Amino acid sequence: MPSPKYLTGDVSAINEFIDRFDVFLLDCDGVIWSGDHVFEGVVETLELLRSRGKKTVFVTNNSTKSRQEYLKKFTGLGIPSNVEEIFGSAYSSSIYISRILKLAPPKNKVFVIGEAGIEHELKSEGISFIGGTDPAYRRDITPEDFKGLADGSLLDPEVGCVLAGLDFHINYLKLSHALQYLRRGAVFLATNVDSTFPMSHGFFPGAGGISMPLVYSTGQKPVALGKPSQAMMDAVEGKFQLDRERTCMVGDRLDTDIKFGIDGKLGGTLAVLTGVSKKEQWEATDAVAVPAYYVDKLSDLYAAAAR
Ligand code: PLP
Ligand code: CA
Repeated sequence: MPSPKYLTGDVSAINEFIDRFDVFLLDCDGVIWSGDHVFEGVVETLELLRSRGKKTVFVTNNSTKSRQEYLKKFTGLGIPSNVEEIFGSAYSSSIYISRILKLAPPKNKVFVIGEAGIEHELKSEGISFIGGTDPAYRRDITPEDFKGLADGSLLDPEVGCVLAGLDFHINYLKLSHALQYLRRGAVFLATNVDSTFPMSHGFFPGAGGISMPLVYSTGQKPVALGKPSQAMMDAVEGKFQLDRERTCMVGDRLDTDIKFGIDGKLGGTLAVLTGVSKKEQWEATDAVAVPAYYVDKLSDLYAAAAR
């Protein structure tokens, strides 16, 4: 496999790189910011890309926030953006349900394992749901629950889909509800199946760790709507009418971002070294994905302004 081209400090290579694309799909955490800290020079770099007529789209696997909540984060960090260029896994899950699954009565409700970001996006697509942040599901399971779940009397007959995202209140009661719906034929979706997610203090279990007990209990795999799933790429393409050959995926993680771009047959992938993956990982013989280009940090592209 050819090794990636290193762009940092090479003004003419950066300009050639930028000229090759019309659209930049940008991962957020690890590329634009780390937690609540925006990386230096990112605002100027985005401005440069936009001033050259490039479309910027933010594609994030974090399902805990809706696009509106993301917009608040962008604004708070001083990054100009708008809701139309933000694409999160809660949103892609919602449009998958409304436009592809097209759940219809009598099975048109979603059982949610996850946080408010998922609920907001489902609401904005007019999708009914139960579970999620409802306190009724944030408690210990009881003998009555076991009985009513097994005989179905505690189940909502309108549930036709289980959607699992990161849930900071995951518990046995929710998993038991979800399992019963899946055993009765509900469609199994996951916002994303990241193994971990990074926080400033270290790594924590990602959304993949939330759906995995259900995978084990049912023997089924969910359709995942986050990177690297091509269901997300199809949703992005549908919304932005991409020419894939003229689109570049920019990310910090090989197993989600770079694989997403490669599997989607995009014209290019650019890895940055400000996040999870390290250079040694794509140099390994068993690398999960190898980017076409890499820079130390996103703002290294800003050097192209020197043209
Ligand atoms: N999932 C959660 C819950 C997160 O907090 C994050 C990053 O903060 C991610 C996934 C990964 O997000 P991204 O795709 O923007 O790197
Ligand atoms: Ca990332």
